[in-house]
Amino acid sequence: MKITDVNVYVMNTKLNDIFSFSQGPVYNRCSVLVRIDIDNGVYGWGECMCHGQQAAEISAAAIEFMYKPLIIGKNPFDVGVIWERLYNRTRPFGQAGSVINALSGIDIALYDCLGKIVGQPVYNLLGGRYRDKVKAYATGFYWADDDVFPDCWIEEAKRHLAKGFRGMKLKTGRGVEEDIRNVNAVRSILPEGTLLMADFNSCYSYGEAKRVIDGTRDARLYFYEELLSPEDLDGYCRIRNYTSSNIAGGEEILTKHIYLNWMKAGALDIYQPDICSAGGFTEGKKILSIAEATNNRVIPHVWGSAVGLAASLQFIAAVPRSPLATRNEEPMLEFDQSTHPFRALLIKEEIGLDDEGYVHISDRPGIGVTVDMDVVREFGKKLTYMSV
Ligand code: CA
Repeated sequence: MKITDVNVYVMNTKLNDIFSFSQGPVYNRCSVLVRIDIDNGVYGWGECMCHGQQAAEISAAAIEFMYKPLIIGKNPFDVGVIWERLYNRTRPFGQAGSVINALSGIDIALYDCLGKIVGQPVYNLLGGRYRDKVKAYATGFYWADDDVFPDCWIEEAKRHLAKGFRGMKLKTGRGVEEDIRNVNAVRSILPEGTLLMADFNSCYSYGEAKRVIDGTRDARLYFYEELLSPEDLDGYCRIRNYTSSNIAGGEEILTKHIYLNWMKAGALDIYQPDICSAGGFTEGKKILSIAEATNNRVIPHVWGSAVGLAASLQFIAAVPRSPLATRNEEPMLEFDQSTHPFRALLIKEEIGLDDEGYVHISDRPGIGVTVDMDVVREFGKKLTYMSV
């Protein structure tokens, strides 16, 4: 069995409703999709993480110009061997960022192929599923210039509750005093038992982070996400020791090597690897092993199109409950509710909430999606080498 073709699609659409978070405005929604074809007619899809301000072309170029020539002709069942070969060949300029995002998309597409070849969902290739559904929380609460706070967030919280969400995450990072006021205002209108989280996208210094934690103590946040810059491992260790609240992070931590450093250091309570950026299923499984060995919790990060969402659900199925504990909590699904013109359109299946606020995990082969090529063509372009 051989890989015969790799195609990467740069998906990009300008937003009419521009939204902002602590790192600045998001003008476009982008995705990098990868399709890998096998000589028996099977093909699989993967997605590379594309952050709000990341140009999709960077990961796409890594695939088209670097990875593609190295995997054509290889056996797709060598997925772990392929991962190591691609990583080693890109080490001097890879190791992190868009190059690992690109490797993640390739790995996901290969697993989608393997699942389809053997007629099994991907979780059955990862050791089986711990759950067939997962509690979802809404990611949203981005800002527009003319928003009035905290009223706009209170209205948005009510919309998520009406949709059936039992948890939600605020896009904090507007300044210490304003964050304290907004977080407490949203908490005051939520029904008892609703999980509330806050995501700072690495905007604060250590001192500011402490003040935000102090001022929001009564809001009982389930976790504080990315309070500090991801370069500051020592700062995370100190902030974790400062509070009994859960400190979370991980979307900017890529590969098992960096996760090992963080988990050994005891930097976080909750780790959030994104399989579309941290290295795909191959690396995600290794990160789970390190978490198990170091007694750490994992709640994956998810922020992409329906392809990345479907792949993440397969991964979440295979995330153990907190290791070394029998009464610890389940992982959750981060379910992005921000504006995205093609996120759901891309696949023919529907991924939605049930009445209890859970999302069910597909048991169809591979990652369980049928990608609509008309939508790929409408929003995407094929990245190919243009000779001059
Ligand atoms: Ca985040």
